[in-house]
Amino acid sequence: MMNLFDTHAHILDDQFNDDREQVIRNIYDNMALVVNIGCNLEDCPHTVALAEQYDKLYAAVGLHPEDVKTYTPEGWDMICRLAEHPKVVGIGETGLDYYWDTSTKDAQKVLFEQHIDLAKQLHKPLVIHDREAHGDTLEILKRTNAKEAGGILHAFSGSVEMAMEVIKMGFYIGLGGPVTFKNARKAVEVAQAIPLEYLVIETDCPYMAPVPFRGKRNEPMLVQHTAAKIAELRGISLEELIEATYQNGKRVYRLK
Ligand SMILES: [Zn+2]
Repeated sequence: MMNLFDTHAHILDDQFNDDREQVIRNIYDNMALVVNIGCNLEDCPHTVALAEQYDKLYAAVGLHPEDVKTYTPEGWDMICRLAEHPKVVGIGETGLDYYWDTSTKDAQKVLFEQHIDLAKQLHKPLVIHDREAHGDTLEILKRTNAKEAGGILHAFSGSVEMAMEVIKMGFYIGLGGPVTFKNARKAVEVAQAIPLEYLVIETDCPYMAPVPFRGKRNEPMLVQHTAAKIAELRGISLEELIEATYQNGKRVYRLK
């Protein structure tokens, strides 16, 4: 289990305020690496500080599409400065979310393209959120030549066809708790169909806890349940799945 790599966690979420140290201890006892994702102006500096403090934690910085209304030029400058930090290994979370709010579509697109520019400048991969926005996400990734930066489509919810299309551009597919859910048809198909070299696993904690913890608070070490489910779906051993996703995670985040 020691090579478990959670490629997408939110350890600074308020839900960890009472026991964050224990959650980090669980990482040290059970896992290899975690990328902790900052997604608003308040969390990003703390995400970097936490990664400075713990060698198993890395950081990504960005402004989540749901938080597009909090954008300020000064805030963006701060993200750009933080992004240069050596333990910041990804730009995001960024992307498009048309599930919560479609009134901000245009602003979300502008902000997404800003993140893509930054990722290309710094040669760091993108951490991409796409919820009910598959068409526009693909269009922007292609038009901006985002494959220069590469990255992960996290919590991937598209079809096998879309997965293959972004993989052809060099992007990785992030799968988490939903692949273990009873009603998870699309995620299961994607988990089975894509080449193993482009698959990474994640928790997106504190949300999306895998079965048998569905509905409870999620945390990085629970990514082992997602790993076990995907190994079963692909008919390979858990060890092989963990080792492959560990190597893939290191490759996409360009870790030594
Ligand atoms: Zn996230």
